[in-house]
Amino acid sequence: MSIEDSAGQLELLLGTKNDGKIKEIKSLLADIAGLNLLTYRERPFSNVTESGITFRANALIKARQIARETEIAVLADDSGLAVFALDGKPGVDSAHFAGFPRDDLRNNASLLRSLSGAEDRSARFLCVAVLHLTDGQEYITRGALDGKITLYPRGKNGFGYDSIFIPQGYNRTAAELTPSEKNAISHRYKALRAMKDHLHNIIAAKKLKV
Ligand code: IMP
Repeated sequence: MSIEDSAGQLELLLGTKNDGKIKEIKSLLADIAGLNLLTYRERPFSNVTESGITFRANALIKARQIARETEIAVLADDSGLAVFALDGKPGVDSAHFAGFPRDDLRNNASLLRSLSGAEDRSARFLCVAVLHLTDGQEYITRGALDGKITLYPRGKNGFGYDSIFIPQGYNRTAAELTPSEKNAISHRYKALRAMKDHLHNIIAAKKLKV
């Protein structure tokens, strides 16, 4: 029996091993009746090489590979920072802008160095979410958060580039916002909120058997 059909529920595996993301996604999707969320702890899967050159390509690679391996519907995402004065860099290389292994402090220092003297410090966080169902149907949603890069890091919350990014309309960096303030405006939140509408529709159609 297809996992998606068991007891009229949609069984959905989160295609990430990042516990911070898992917590965020679970709380956002918690109120969808008929959705049974699974993580890598219940259904382990292999690591995915993010070989794409766009966020969309990487999110699709993750969702498809994990769905193929586990035969479960998968929700995956890919995200990062695009800086206008750097022609969109670090982009899909956001996690490893300063090399391997990933080091947020070194990434931030490299980015600030690359922007030294730049007048235009505008930047955008982007997130692409992909839902891949077991029958091959796919849904893709996006979210963005505009802002600008500071001259120095500020703040202790968050991760990645949060301490050098000031969201538009704020005078604090994302690392100076509380987690709930940041989650309410984040690129990931916007992509997942849009995906939530698709999930509602998919589950409703399943109940009506249409
Ligand atoms: P991924 O979506 O886990 O592959 O994230 C890629 C990288 O983008 C992270 O390692 C961070 O460097 C950066 N990034 C993505 N989202 C955020 C965010 O909300 N705040 C700060 N950095 C982020």
